[in-house]
Formats: sequence, structure tokens, C-alpha cells
Amino acid sequence: MKVPQKIIEILAASDFPSHYKEEFEEFFHSIEKEKKRRDFIIERLSEDKKITQNFLNKTVQDLEGKNHELSKILAEKQAVNDKLIAINQELEEFAFIISHDLQEPLRTILNFADLLRNTRNDDLDRETLVWLDFIFQSSIRMSNQIRAILEYSRIGKSGEKEWVDCNHLIQDVVSDLSSAIRDKKAEIHVHTLPKVYGNPSKLYSLFQNLLINALKYSKRNIPPQIWIEYKTKGEYYLFTITDNGIGIKAEHHERIFVIFQRLHRLEDLEGSGIGLSRCKKIVEVHSGKIWVESVPGEGSTFHFTLPTKYVNE
Ligand code: ADP
Repeated sequence: MKVPQKIIEILAASDFPSHYKEEFEEFFHSIEKEKKRRDFIIERLSEDKKITQNFLNKTVQDLEGKNHELSKILAEKQAVNDKLIAINQELEEFAFIISHDLQEPLRTILNFADLLRNTRNDDLDRETLVWLDFIFQSSIRMSNQIRAILEYSRIGKSGEKEWVDCNHLIQDVVSDLSSAIRDKKAEIHVHTLPKVYGNPSKLYSLFQNLLINALKYSKRNIPPQIWIEYKTKGEYYLFTITDNGIGIKAEHHERIFVIFQRLHRLEDLEGSGIGLSRCKKIVEVHSGKIWVESVPGEGSTFHFTLPTKYVNE
């Protein structure tokens, strides 16, 4: 860029040395260069802005698409969930009706077996009486199992919920089991427990089943030591019931929660194999989970979670 004429005139009319003219020229030249550089940067910036804008538009479009897909997947999941709930309800009703109807013919078998035993006792030989006893015992067992299925199918029914103080609940459970506790010389260590929102009788049954098992599966001649504790884990209370009993091999840790699954023969330790399946269902209707950690010969810890907040499903 040339030095403007006006400046040249001023320089000529004054006493400025001539080399000032070159310096001015250099100065104006550098301003011009700087201006070009600035224009170039502005152009680049506006191009970058366009690219960024396009990128943002595409990202927003992609996100909208993904959002739409996600809403579709969620709606499908909800539909599957609703279907599962309906099937589950149907199954529960089916189990209820079947078990209810099966009790009737079974009662007839029991009555006639009983009648035969009582009225024809003298006419029947020893072997027939033993067979009759088998029929009798098996029918009673079957009747108990059918009743268990009936009860199990009812757990799913929501039932009234309220805030339940687990300290009071445990006090009642321990007091109801006091003779078994005394017989076994067991010691129960209960920490202060929280209040949970749930069905009182189902929660009672949960603690009761776990405590009965902790007493029942103790080591021979070693008094049971049982600890009942809890801690808060996020939105859940994590309860633990620990015993010093016979323990459970790792390969059985899941199977024991399935209805009628037992690890002991009836002759060794009495039981129906429904306690833990009932516990699992109770915990699940309260939106929690249940599992066991155990070392055979050392003892078991049953863990279960229950929400800390009000849940009404
Ligand atoms: P039941 O006690 O009537 O057999 P459960 O469903 O309560 O039925 O328990 C299933 C099985 O799990 C039991 O047969 C037993 O082998 C095992 N079990 C449950 N609780 C304990 C425990 N605290 N210690 C050791 N084994 C246990």
C-alpha cells in the first residue's frame, strides 16, 4: 500500500527527514498485511462455523433418530413386560385352580386309606398294612405340597403394604421361635434394623423362613450363632442373615431357591423345600433380590435387598 498523498504532503512541508517516508511506507504495508491476514482468518472462521453448524445439525438429527428408536424399543419392552405380567397372573391363577381342585380327590384317597386302616385292620396282613401306610404317608406329603403350591401362587397377589419396623418384626419372629432357639441353645444377634415399605405378613414369613433354616441347618452339637444385620446400598437396604451352620456347596447356591429343591433326604432333615422359593418370591414382589454366599462346613450368609423408599406396585 502506498503512503497516502496527504501524509506525503505533510512530510514534504515539514522538516521530517526523508527516510520517514520509507518507514511510513513500511508501516502502511504491514497494516495492509495484517488486514489481509485478518480477512483470511474471518473467512476461515466462517467456513469452520458452517462446518460446525452442519455437524451440529446432523448430530441433532441422529439423536432425534436414536431417540425415536429408543422410544420404540421402550414401548416394545413395555408391551413384552405387560404380556409377561399377564402370563404370570394366568399361571398363578392356573396353579391356584389346579392345586385347589387336586385337593379334593386326594382327600378322598386319604379318607379311604384311613377307613381301610381303621376298619379292616384285623383282616389285612402285615404287608398290606405297610403298603397302606405308604399310600397314607405319600398322600399326606402330596397334600402338603399342593397346599404349598397354593400358598406360593398367592404370594404374587400384591396384598396391603405399609411401613413395617423390622425391629418389631424380628422380635415377633424370635419370640415365636423361642422354643426351637432354646432347644438348640442358639444365640441370635440382631442389629438395629430399618423400617421398610411392604406387606407385614409376607415380610414376617421371609425373616421367619430364613431364621428357621439358620436354626435347622446347624452343625451337630454346635449351638447356632446367628447374626441379623443390614446396611444401606444406594436405594436399597441390604439385609444379611449369617449362620455358623453346615453351609451349602457353591453348585447348589441357585438351585435351593427353586420350589421343592432340597439338599437333604426327608429321613435326615425334615422339610418341604418351599421355604427359600417363598422367600425369593416375597423379596421379588417387594422389588428386591435374594442370594446366598456360603462355605460348606463354615456357615451361610443369606443376602436380600428391599427398597429404602415407598414402592407400590
Ligand atoms: P427346606 O428347608 O424345607 O428343605 P428350603 O427351601 O427352606 O426348604 O431350603 C432348601 C434347601 O436349602 C434346604 O433343603 C437346605 O439344604 C438348604 N438350606 C437352606 N438354608 C440353609 C442354611 N441356612 N444352611 C444350610 N443349608 C440351607
